[in-house]
Amino acid sequence: MSSLDYKALAAEARQIFGTAADEQELEAARVAWIGRKGRITVLLRQIPELPEDERPLAGRTLNTLKGDLSSLLDARLREFADSGAGDETGFDITHPGRTPFIGRLHPITKTLDDIIEVFREMGFDVAEGPEVESEYYNFEALNIPEHHPARGMWDTFWTKSPPGLVLRTHTSPVQIRIMENQKPPVRIIVPGRCYRADTPDATHSPVFYQVEGLYVDEGVSMAMLRGALDTFAHRLFGSDVPTRFRPSYFPFTEPSAELDIGCFQCGGNGCRLCKGSGWLEILGSGMVNPELYGFVGYDPEKVTGYAFGMGVERIAMLKYGIDDIRLLYENDLRFLEQF
Ligand SMILES: [Zn+2]
Repeated sequence: MSSLDYKALAAEARQIFGTAADEQELEAARVAWIGRKGRITVLLRQIPELPEDERPLAGRTLNTLKGDLSSLLDARLREFADSGAGDETGFDITHPGRTPFIGRLHPITKTLDDIIEVFREMGFDVAEGPEVESEYYNFEALNIPEHHPARGMWDTFWTKSPPGLVLRTHTSPVQIRIMENQKPPVRIIVPGRCYRADTPDATHSPVFYQVEGLYVDEGVSMAMLRGALDTFAHRLFGSDVPTRFRPSYFPFTEPSAELDIGCFQCGGNGCRLCKGSGWLEILGSGMVNPELYGFVGYDPEKVTGYAFGMGVERIAMLKYGIDDIRLLYENDLRFLEQF
């Protein structure tokens, strides 16, 4: 065999490997040329039979060709894999599948959805309002005049330009906005973001969600408030969870009460979660202070109403056993993927 034969042989092999139309043709070429009984393999095996002076050249040339064909084979296989031309349909059943990424709802969103659903079933409509508010809606019309000591209950972000606006410290301003534009009966819940100039820690975030509720009509009573809030607590925390009203103070409700649920962690015996009391505070509420009706043109002799407000993060933390509010805002997927 002369060196010319090698050139022709190499050209033929490269042509066949280079033009194989699919993985099957390529595999056939591999078997025919560099497989255990392939042409190159057989020629390599026959080298010892060649005249002694031809053996080095034959060995080098055939081994080089075998290496080249192996590389060409790999390159063509990658080409097929990339183009997806595994078979006539273009579908390669041997290609590993891709696991679809399924998104999840954020625990705050899930909790908001749960809260809204319970009150919608009780006949409440969802209302919304602006997050940048005037001092009038955020404070004055809610019976919190300037210099009222109650303003100290909310550390407030004020705007610089234009000056005098606030990032709402609660969703309560929406109560006023809705009552200004709608005659009783009014039965709304107001989900939304609120802002307070708090230093972030395990239980405080400068941005947080509230859900506000308001029901004003003739004959609305404190017993009706208690009934609605009990239904809510039982739906979110279990039908046998105990509840209690505890007297409180808010400028826009009179009388005011906070709703506690029995601590589900210790069953009421006292633990770290409930600070030993056996009870967990979940929201503030009360009968709408008649002073507010003067701001919206309602007749306090005719209508009564109740209102409540809750921190959505607080509810979510209790429901899901989260012990630090900051986890809800760090967007760490390792945390979020648990919900
Ligand atoms: Zn407890």
